[in-house]
Amino acid sequence: MNPITRRQWLTTLGTTSSAIVLTQLLPTPAQADEAKPSSPYATLPPLPYAYDALAPYIDERTMTIHHDLHHGAYVKNLNAALDKFPKYKEKPIEDLFRILNKLPEEIRRTVRNNGGGHYNHSLFWESMGPKTDNSEPIGELATAITKDFGSIEEFKKQFVEAGMQRFGSGWVWLAITRKGNLAISTTPNQDNPCMVSDIPILGNDLWEHAYYLTYQNRRAEYLAQWWNVVNWTAVNDRYKKAIA
Ligand code: MN
Repeated sequence: MNPITRRQWLTTLGTTSSAIVLTQLLPTPAQADEAKPSSPYATLPPLPYAYDALAPYIDERTMTIHHDLHHGAYVKNLNAALDKFPKYKEKPIEDLFRILNKLPEEIRRTVRNNGGGHYNHSLFWESMGPKTDNSEPIGELATAITKDFGSIEEFKKQFVEAGMQRFGSGWVWLAITRKGNLAISTTPNQDNPCMVSDIPILGNDLWEHAYYLTYQNRRAEYLAQWWNVVNWTAVNDRYKKAIA
């Protein structure tokens, strides 16, 4: 190889963000649509901000791998399962979680794990954004949190404690229960509150893939820092829509 060309090539590699490199490995939404025109789950929703927008609280490489590869795989696996039973593609995915036990056994576990992974991560990306001054709950949601937990501070404390108590991989949630109040819960793996007929409002990913590159084994630190990137406007909007 010509030394200059080689140096240029290495320079290009070094300055090209890992986000771009990894994104190029994935099918574009257009390609995915072409392959599976009828599936509502065929495409990975794009991040609503740049891969480095949540740094330093969540680093760019973690976001790139997490979104493109982890979430990308959940979408791919879910589609492969639903392709075998296309009638389930017609239903909102939340409905599939409520009837897991009635799904064909052949796809039940895949819908639970990969459908759960797709739903949970979609909600997760939408619940975050670059740090702003608006770093506390707002509006109707702030009122409801204060009513059900005593204070915003107490809610955050209980949410972090619950996240610490979940052993292994899973999620910590704020959800609306069937009684209409807010409650904190945790789920293993990619399960979520829809599976017990609650409505998730906010969730934090407790899998090590969500935080290991920056925080290694320090989950408590990740949970504490994560509040810096919660988009409370989006979370309040979701709450208002759910109770409307
Ligand atoms: Mn994850």
